[in-house]
Amino acid sequence: PTADEQVPAEVRERHAQLCQELDDHSYRYYMGKPVIPDAEYDTLMRELSGIEERHPSLITQDSPTQKIGAPVSVDFAPVEHLERMQSLDNAFSDEEFEAWVHRVEAEAPIDAYLCELKIDGLAVDLVYEQGRLVRAATRGDGRVGEDITLNVRTIEGVPERLDTSSRAAPELLEVRGEVFLPGEEFKELNARLTEEGKAPFANPRNGAAGSLRQKDPRVTATRPLRMLVHGVGAHTGVEFTHQSHVYDLLREWGLPVSDRYRVLTTRDEVRDYIGYYTEHRHDPAYEIDGVVIKVDDVSLQRRLGSTSRAPRWAIAYKYPPEEVTTRLLDIRVNV
Ligand code: NAD
Repeated sequence: PTADEQVPAEVRERHAQLCQELDDHSYRYYMGKPVIPDAEYDTLMRELSGIEERHPSLITQDSPTQKIGAPVSVDFAPVEHLERMQSLDNAFSDEEFEAWVHRVEAEAPIDAYLCELKIDGLAVDLVYEQGRLVRAATRGDGRVGEDITLNVRTIEGVPERLDTSSRAAPELLEVRGEVFLPGEEFKELNARLTEEGKAPFANPRNGAAGSLRQKDPRVTATRPLRMLVHGVGAHTGVEFTHQSHVYDLLREWGLPVSDRYRVLTTRDEVRDYIGYYTEHRHDPAYEIDGVVIKVDDVSLQRRLGSTSRAPRWAIAYKYPPEEVTTRLLDIRVNV
């Protein structure tokens, strides 16, 4: 019998159903209109991954476990990224995080991890040629995104030209980061929209997405968007040795780098960092949905490589969602 014949019909049906549901939710989410909380989406995705782990013959390129992101809207010109943009694998518990560390350390001798916050915003790609911002795009499906250059030019803190006072600009630099609306600014924007008789945004992430993907950049210019950068894609004329080295250089060039990241050498320190931000998740001015732990050494990153959708050298430790608590409370209040 072929591998497929060994998969019970009900499993195959559940698999097809989950693929369909996840695709639908993903479409709605990236159109700014999700109908289920993220945690519920993550649970469905985990069920799908579980089925595919037990029945690898069900994995196709088209499965939601293998692809990332969003349909590209016709409102913006398509742009091909110079280097693919990826997503991140998740750990939802200490055990899952330990399992990741175990896998990584079995492959390579890791001497340091870079720990940082997982900003709940929109992934954006910036291209600098000879130090000039020539293009900005959304992540899209990772290969092709939407050209939002004019909109991104209106974001405070995103330099039009790299600062070359202490270091010359590289010929080419693709920078990746997150565009978001800080909490206070989000509240003010919603108050303003309500005053103008317009619909407010459901949460800061939706507000950032809606503000950034405006057809008229003059509207985006009135929105208090910010950006923090957390990686690079294609680059020529510069070499990076460590993730922390990337951040040092990006900061020297005037790009907005967070000061909340830490390079840590022991697992206990990494655990403490995760624990600290579990307790202090509301300290930053923006929303976070977890922390990201990356192997600091770039040569080890290369050795660990990537799957079709995420690097093996990084993991997002996701915090338990707060929206579920709110929902449960709402239900309790309603009954
Ligand atoms: P993700 O949000 O889990 O993580 C990947 C992204 O995190 C990266 O692309 C990057 O842009 C961003 N990121 C933020 N801070 C970062 C940092 N410091 N370093 C590196 N990257 C950082 O994955 P995703 O593919 O963007 O989206 C999938 C998630 O979206 C799901 O887990 C789910 O929570 C949500 N979703 C929800 C629905 C729904 O219906 N509610 C539908 C689809 C997706």
